[in-house]
Amino acid sequence: MPTIYLDMDGVLADFNAKAREVLGATEADSDQAAQVGRWPREKWETLKEIYHFYRILPKTPFADELVDMARRYRDELGWRLYILTAIPSGNDVPQAFQDKVEWIQEYYPDIAVHFGPYSRDKAHHCQPGDILVDDRYDNCESWTRAGGQAIRVLKDPSSALKEVADTFQRYR
Ligand SMILES: [Mg+2]
Repeated sequence: MPTIYLDMDGVLADFNAKAREVLGATEADSDQAAQVGRWPREKWETLKEIYHFYRILPKTPFADELVDMARRYRDELGWRLYILTAIPSGNDVPQAFQDKVEWIQEYYPDIAVHFGPYSRDKAHHCQPGDILVDDRYDNCESWTRAGGQAIRVLKDPSSALKEVADTFQRYR
């Protein structure tokens, strides 16, 4: 049976909403960060010093809807369901692992988490036919090259939610 993987930051956890709040940044700033997949270095230096930043992220507004659909893959189709997340590229936030585990245990305790560990490693988890729901273009590209189906979450998540639902109907 295939696996459906859900990304954490930008998909389940609203990294950029919290970053805007603590940095006093604008929507344009976070859109730019979402485009390139990271905040500018001086902003990142601020974020990574915030105590347990990954533990205090809010859920995205669509996280519960997405997780409920992904659970149907698991519960009705017999797929595996995991969260697939990554640590910062320099591994410069040592508490990130535990904060992410605790965050998931609070909000989605029925789902286990796998770590890339880095973002560029995500596609190593892909077996042909596996689904990844992720907001980063490069992650989706490499996932598709590895033979999986990547569903990209854009700023407006509605197309991704529809694709997750439509794909489920195809496999039923
Ligand atoms: Mg992400």
